[in-house]
Amino acid sequence: MDEFVVKILSIEKLTHDVNKIRVERPEGYDFIPGQATEVSINRADLKDERRPFTFTSLTEKPYLEFMIKSYDNHNGVTKIIGTLKQNDELILHDVWGAISYKGQGIFIAGGAGITPFISILRDLRHKNKLNGNQLIFSNKTKQDIILNAELSEMLGNNFINVLTREKAKDYFFGRIDASFLKAQIKDFNQCFYVCGPDEFVKEIDSILTTLGAKPDTIVFEK
Ligand SMILES: Cc1cc2nc3c(=O)[nH]c(=O)nc-3n(C[C@H](O)[C@H](O)[C@H](O)COP(=O)(O)OP(=O)(O)OC[C@H]3O[C@@H](n4cnc5c(N)ncnc54)[C@H](O)[C@@H]3O)c2cc1C
Repeated sequence: MDEFVVKILSIEKLTHDVNKIRVERPEGYDFIPGQATEVSINRADLKDERRPFTFTSLTEKPYLEFMIKSYDNHNGVTKIIGTLKQNDELILHDVWGAISYKGQGIFIAGGAGITPFISILRDLRHKNKLNGNQLIFSNKTKQDIILNAELSEMLGNNFINVLTREKAKDYFFGRIDASFLKAQIKDFNQCFYVCGPDEFVKEIDSILTTLGAKPDTIVFEK
């Protein structure tokens, strides 16, 4: 398996626990919007600790970008990633992933599960093909929403924000359940893209199928 050592070009806080990290792009290193790679930190004690992260940059950019949520309450890799600085090195591996754009539809994301959709939605906007796609994005509170302003600007009324632990004006409150999806979605005969914690994906997949979506039109990381 190939390994690519890359320097961090910039690291910037997006939310209280998510960093946007741009790194050098190795020559010929290509990806399809929605895909991911395993990343490790280029330090003797951490080289073998690989974790999957999704590219969020446009495929045309000369750099690669990730948005990485750090879990500071336990000593995992993402906690250390949150302390990295410009010029520190990461190791990237092969590109893989099952999530890619298959046609107009509804994107449903929970928390950091938005990352493959950021890449896909940015790509669609870049190609002027974003029209008609809709995003339902669930987070605990407003301060957890990654790229709220950019997503609002991109999608307008087709961006539906749901909060599970904070009540706020213009935001839906509560878990995404069957009655919520039935109220929001007019047509179940289109593509669905689901990404988030395992339980979230399982639950939404099951609700969508019950409401009439065909299993082969529901795209998620298996
Ligand atoms: C295909 C794919 C793409 C992904 N893309 C992204 C992305 O773009 N951005 C992103 O932020 N994430 C992404 N993830 C998730 C990311 O890979 C994980 O958050 C990361 O691997 C966690 O690494 P870790 O070493 O910090 O935690 P690990 O030690 O690997 O633990 C995994 C999870 O268990 C929980 N956990 C384990 N132990 C404890 C503990 N003691 N206390 C509290 N919680 C605990 C944490 O919630 C953590 O998420 C992706 C996952 C997949 C499968």
